[in-house]
Amino acid sequence: MADHDPAKPFCYLPFADRKDYWKEGCSIGKLSHPLWDWDHSYPNFIKTWANKADDFRFMKVAKNKPVSSCAECIRFSGQILAAKSREDVARIRRLRKKHFLEVQAERAKYHEARERVEDGYLCMIIDGMDQKKTSLPRAPGSRAGDETESVKTRIIGVKVHGYKKYFYIVPPDFPHDSNITISLLLQTICLWTKETGGPWPKYLHIQMDNTCSDNKTQVMLAAFMRMVEAELMAKVQFGFLPVGHTHEDIDACFARIASYLRKTVCSTFQQLADGTTDAFKDGEAVSVV
Ligand SMILES: [Zn+2]
Repeated sequence: MADHDPAKPFCYLPFADRKDYWKEGCSIGKLSHPLWDWDHSYPNFIKTWANKADDFRFMKVAKNKPVSSCAECIRFSGQILAAKSREDVARIRRLRKKHFLEVQAERAKYHEARERVEDGYLCMIIDGMDQKKTSLPRAPGSRAGDETESVKTRIIGVKVHGYKKYFYIVPPDFPHDSNITISLLLQTICLWTKETGGPWPKYLHIQMDNTCSDNKTQVMLAAFMRMVEAELMAKVQFGFLPVGHTHEDIDACFARIASYLRKTVCSTFQQLADGTTDAFKDGEAVSVV
């Protein structure tokens, strides 16, 4: 049920509270055996976790984990806790397993797409960084979401696989919608063609969050359909990972930027752009626009 964090050797679990896992274990145990007598009280459970026994070593339940939890995972776990029979628990766990397998299959498709090397083929992933970590002004050590950070600036990242990463500083008055996603994807393709001197890609794979507000929209599909109709591209493929399961390579880049910004003074858009560039000092190909 956990999601791997590409920035660290951890898996993030869907609940923010360890007690939820203990409750689920107790609930399933009691339904399985009417005379169930588990000596793992909650303090014992926490002690086992704290001792970093094998199963728990890389499990993390962070209240401020990098992405929000998946609504489906939370719903399934709530249903398991409320279940009245073993059959109900087994049925819900089967549904939950199906959900995990769907997420895994979607992730495997993206990993396959990003490994593909072919003339005229381009694979990109686009995502927005947590706005709380890029609000201005910032001082070293300031906490994410601090009330004094009043300018809600955003950084949107686009990683072109096999080439470089582009980060766009988006002013606070720009709405979160499909227009900005389409504009930044097209701008990235324009920059890529200009820098590499090549033609427009013929085949495109775009990986995004599965959100209906700005990514999975008719406007988005219409824009890329129009480009295929105009014969600018031959095929555009979209990949969507559910919110709460999107711990991908672009999130590892955001973690590096956030870690750098925590240590630096940042009051203006320019300082934010400079900080984003400096976060990748070791010769990595990065452009901040
Ligand atoms: Zn889920």
